[in-house]
Amino acid sequence: MQLHLYNTASKKKELIVQPEGRPLGIYSCGITAYDYAHLGNWRHYVMDDLLIRTLKYDGYTLKHVQNVTDVGHLTSDADTGEDKLEKGARREGTSVYDVARKFERYFYETGDKLNIIRPDVVTRATEYIQQQLQIAVALEEKGFAYLIPGDGLYFDTSKVANYGALAGFKPEGLQEGARVEKVAGKRYPTDFAVWKLEKPGENRQMVWPSPWGERSFPGWHLECVAMSLDQLGQPVDIHTGGVDHIPVHHTNEIAQAEAYTGRTPFVRVWVHGNFMRIDGQKMSKSLGNIYRLEDVLERGFTPMGLRYLFLMSHYRHELNFTWESLAAAQTAYDRLLRSLAQDGRTRESGMVTQERLDKAQEYREKFLAAINDDLNSSAGLAVINQILKSNLLPQERYDLILDLDDILGLDLRRQSTLLGRAEQLEVVLDDDGEAQRLLDERTQARANKDFARADFLRERIEALGYQIIDTPTGAKVQKRRV
Ligand code: AMP
Ligand code: ZN
Repeated sequence: MQLHLYNTASKKKELIVQPEGRPLGIYSCGITAYDYAHLGNWRHYVMDDLLIRTLKYDGYTLKHVQNVTDVGHLTSDADTGEDKLEKGARREGTSVYDVARKFERYFYETGDKLNIIRPDVVTRATEYIQQQLQIAVALEEKGFAYLIPGDGLYFDTSKVANYGALAGFKPEGLQEGARVEKVAGKRYPTDFAVWKLEKPGENRQMVWPSPWGERSFPGWHLECVAMSLDQLGQPVDIHTGGVDHIPVHHTNEIAQAEAYTGRTPFVRVWVHGNFMRIDGQKMSKSLGNIYRLEDVLERGFTPMGLRYLFLMSHYRHELNFTWESLAAAQTAYDRLLRSLAQDGRTRESGMVTQERLDKAQEYREKFLAAINDDLNSSAGLAVINQILKSNLLPQERYDLILDLDDILGLDLRRQSTLLGRAEQLEVVLDDDGEAQRLLDERTQARANKDFARADFLRERIEALGYQIIDTPTGAKVQKRRV
């Protein structure tokens, strides 16, 4: 099968073609390593992972490069404000490097829990200072950049013919007033920093000498240009990021890369993941709704329950996260596991029939057609549920779903085996009173008339191998006999 992906640049779905004699190059913008990755970030990186897994399943050979931003990303995208890393270091009371390594490690270790395949290559902005400097110098020499004394080297966006094409805007239509903070001395509102100078009294930990000043540092958009060209060459086959990157970060990557190399396009296919909101609102510190994976686990959900939730919506649609929607996803995931555990256990002997082989093949093709049509994971999950209900033999259902899980990444083999074993051996999973604790929570949920949550908790209790029995003295949990 071959994948069609929606390309933000052409606004069309395009066929992804394996380049001859080299791997397909994928560059994904990584995190700014100054704080814990949150659920919005995870929604995005599960999308990236779905893309990678689909390409692998389809038989493409890949090279996936991801950067870690550990310098230069200012709190305002308009080249003002503090460096996020320096801010993180002050908050943590450690060095900027320690902060960057801490949150980078957290990111990849938490990604493992979400079953996200690690990139083939991880590049850090601080390890690409010389390459970035070389590009900045070349941009100035070629007349694409000018110095604002005391501030930094700025890219002159009027010098590139198609500036902003990715985002579909025209420079003359942009009002700088719309931006919160202005930079004095910019020739055009859309001009942006290529290289910044430390401000007096700023006392940054991360500075390097450059032709423009002894204490200076790269602008944010330069790192991805330096790293992607170095690791993958031009054109980069696929470049991913969140939709927030379209008007600024990626637009400015394109301007610099194409001005530097003198060739277009910098990237063949741009893939952008839409945002996640929480209870209909933007995630923000002031609303206290910036949740991490740990918050999800604390509430009794599992990483795969969260992953299932992400896969239920299409990556180009906005996703509104609510705890109820997570509970529904977790219930669906647990149900899938239980069915699979049962199918995996049942050694029902049956003749292989052409009819069932054809049926299995039909399901597989239907699933792959959905996924290869711009990663339609919700349609893919619907096919999985059809397979579960089908009259294929248990073993056939089991094998087919596990095979397709190479794409979904729901860890179904391991999780269903664990569950199957627990059920078979009647292992008491309640050593720490987990079932009783969930029952108490369910009683509370019912008292609060939160029936969705109560139903979900019943499912969790049952997944642990218990049933709820109503007695005159209230509900009790009792271990189920298999
Ligand atoms: P950052 O660390 O802020 O550079 O973000 C890392 C990635 O997560 C970027 O590709 C962002 O576009 C993406 N991202 C950030 N917040 C959200 C959100 N609420 N929903 C979806 N993606 C997000
Ligand atoms: Zn980037």
